[in-house]
Amino acid sequence: MTTLAQLQSMDRATVLHPFTHAKDYASGAAECFVVESGAGVRIKGADGSELIDAFGGLYCVNVGYGRSEVADAIAAQAHKLAYYHSYAGHTTEALARLSMRLIEMAPAGMAKVFYGLSGSDANETNAKLVWYYNNLRGLPRKKKIISRERGYHGCSVISGSMTGLSFYHQHMDLPLPIIRHVGVPHHYWGAQPGESEREFSKRRARELEALILAEGPETVAAFIAEPVLGTGGLIPPPEDYWQEIQSVLQRYDVLLIADEVVCGFGRIGTRFGSERYGMKPDLITAAKGLTSAYVPMSASIIGERIWNVVRDGAEQVGAFSHGYTYSGHPLAAAAANACLDILEREKLADNAERVGSYLREQLFSELSSNDFVGEVRGVGMLAAVEFVADRDTKRRFDPALKVGARVSAAARKRGLIARAMPHGDILGFAPPLILTQADADQIVAITCDAVEEVTQQLKR
Ligand code: PLP
Repeated sequence: MTTLAQLQSMDRATVLHPFTHAKDYASGAAECFVVESGAGVRIKGADGSELIDAFGGLYCVNVGYGRSEVADAIAAQAHKLAYYHSYAGHTTEALARLSMRLIEMAPAGMAKVFYGLSGSDANETNAKLVWYYNNLRGLPRKKKIISRERGYHGCSVISGSMTGLSFYHQHMDLPLPIIRHVGVPHHYWGAQPGESEREFSKRRARELEALILAEGPETVAAFIAEPVLGTGGLIPPPEDYWQEIQSVLQRYDVLLIADEVVCGFGRIGTRFGSERYGMKPDLITAAKGLTSAYVPMSASIIGERIWNVVRDGAEQVGAFSHGYTYSGHPLAAAAANACLDILEREKLADNAERVGSYLREQLFSELSSNDFVGEVRGVGMLAAVEFVADRDTKRRFDPALKVGARVSAAARKRGLIARAMPHGDILGFAPPLILTQADADQIVAITCDAVEEVTQQLKR
């Protein structure tokens, strides 16, 4: 039998892990944690430890770990037909059924679904669809895509360029020059003294308009954004933000891509985040909660405005020349159908709203008196605690102190996974949508102990 130590050394010798210090990991200086099993909102390590996963993997395991009906659906499909491609009009029952329900679930005006394997590749597809659309319309110069600082859209060449976090660009020759970024809509940090949320939203919209005009509206094709900013800090939009932004986009014939990779499928209390904020996207990017990560799958959901041009353009350009070997994979489609059944049957969007609100209220009531807690925020089953060195002046901690990472490590030591968000001193929570109030109480209790430990260290 292979021992845990042998597994770890095999892994250190062979795997290049994402977001891991390559040298420290290979040498054994950085941790290697072998995950063995998962059930509900908890995972178990091969070392026997049990952790409550308050980040649902990477906010993707929405129905929770170890759901046998999902595993059974995947197995049944594998026995019947594990794979066929979806090129040249081939399909499966699982895929046709899934696509019909996605169009029914999505905000009004959505027409078709294109499948990929990750949020990054779905954003790549959406960028290509935007370019294709404008080429077919005879507007070959209308190609720039505007994204937001601290937006996260993935790691591939185009999606990584749209991502507005500089450490995803450094040493990787990104961003591509066709991508632009505008300011993050975070009222806590971005508002001027006395500026209301509404005024702040108007200002962000004016900045977007100024950028479109400076670039030339004839060169700007699309705006991409998450309904609620995710990896950049779990930041809900300020009041009226989406109304203000959409009126600018409409004025200049700029498409809206709603990146719903995190917000979709109940995470923020509605089927899609767009629904919650009155967004009318032309393209939707979906992944994560679509299959609760049981099998990789992403979707580009295409609105009528783009679909009509793609359909009519086929006469001129022939087949739509884009696709992956695994587009519409039957195992993923079977997993997605099973996850959407659970989402509907267990009313997980409602649970996200109810238990998520409870989680935030408890975090707020327990932590808001701490001098280092600047803001407790979130929406649906998303919560964040942001730490500052001085609340009155909103002075940030010296990044070298790694306050967010230290609180996350202190929580982990106590059996809780809460994510140190990569920008700023922010502790993030995005648990599976099946979370109960008792789980939320446990998360809050451990978080308070962890915050207290780091607070004492910082005061020393
Ligand atoms: N878009 C958003 C909003 C995300 O949060 C992520 C991943 O966290 C992605 C896209 C990229 O998805 P993936 O990691 O599956 O490529």
